[in-house]
Amino acid sequence: MKPTLLGTGGSEGIPCIFCTCSVCERARSLGGHEIRSRSSLLLNDDTLVDFSPDLFYQSLQGKFNLNRLSALFLTHFHEDHVNVPEMESRLSALPALHSPVAVYCSPETAHQVQSLFKFYFNYGRPDARDYFERYKLTPLPLWQPMHANGFCVTPIQSSHHGYGVAALGYNYIFEKNGQRLLYAVDTGWYPDVSWDFLDGLPLDGVIMECTYGDYNLQPYSPEHLNLSNMLDMLHHLQDLGCITPKTPVFLTHLCHLHSMTHEETQEFLNRCGYSVQLGYDFMELPFFT
Ligand SMILES: [Zn+2]
Ligand SMILES: [Zn+2]
Ligand SMILES: [Zn+2]
Repeated sequence: MKPTLLGTGGSEGIPCIFCTCSVCERARSLGGHEIRSRSSLLLNDDTLVDFSPDLFYQSLQGKFNLNRLSALFLTHFHEDHVNVPEMESRLSALPALHSPVAVYCSPETAHQVQSLFKFYFNYGRPDARDYFERYKLTPLPLWQPMHANGFCVTPIQSSHHGYGVAALGYNYIFEKNGQRLLYAVDTGWYPDVSWDFLDGLPLDGVIMECTYGDYNLQPYSPEHLNLSNMLDMLHHLQDLGCITPKTPVFLTHLCHLHSMTHEETQEFLNRCGYSVQLGYDFMELPFFT
């Protein structure tokens, strides 16, 4: 299967269930690409990046299951990227899935996920279910390539903070079949250590967040990108020799502060000087085949 953007929305999704803003109301009436569930990337039927709170809906809409999942990469511990209560459903699978899914993430994210595993395990039920039998938390060091399910994966540092800790989130470089893909979600402008690591590293594709879209960020957010910041990131990647104007770039993690429709946004991107496509839920990506 091709890598698939299961969800392309920011933390609240579009439409946000509590919201009556014009973007959310328009999404409710138009549907289609204006609907954005919370972000996950299905790399293969055994490899997932982030565990969206919308995975149940996504599995229905996309007609897939995660029965073969064996590797889960987490970018960070925000609720739109890891939904621990939903992870419990793997304990109910029939026939039973005994082999644990390897959960790869930063040490800080592993610690936070572990806390919730313990909370749900210990919260007083006589039939408490053991997450640790079905998920194996595997902290990864930054910058060190590792191998999982045929992918060579290198975590790099994003500019985005998880809950309660100063540690920054992870972005990932995935390599397979001679192609190298950068997954840049969630992040603001990269810290110098990440730019230094990327310097001169050719990329065959980029998936990049564009949380705020055409929303005018003042001041510049260290946590997320808008369209202008995203283009700054692409300029810098080009300056470092990582991409060319023809390198395919896909945008995800849009929030409802972005006012343009999908079509209007794509028309803007068609004139930006790079090969950028606005992602949409269930968009298949031309990598690793
Ligand atoms: Zn997010
Ligand atoms: Zn809204
Ligand atoms: Zn986040």
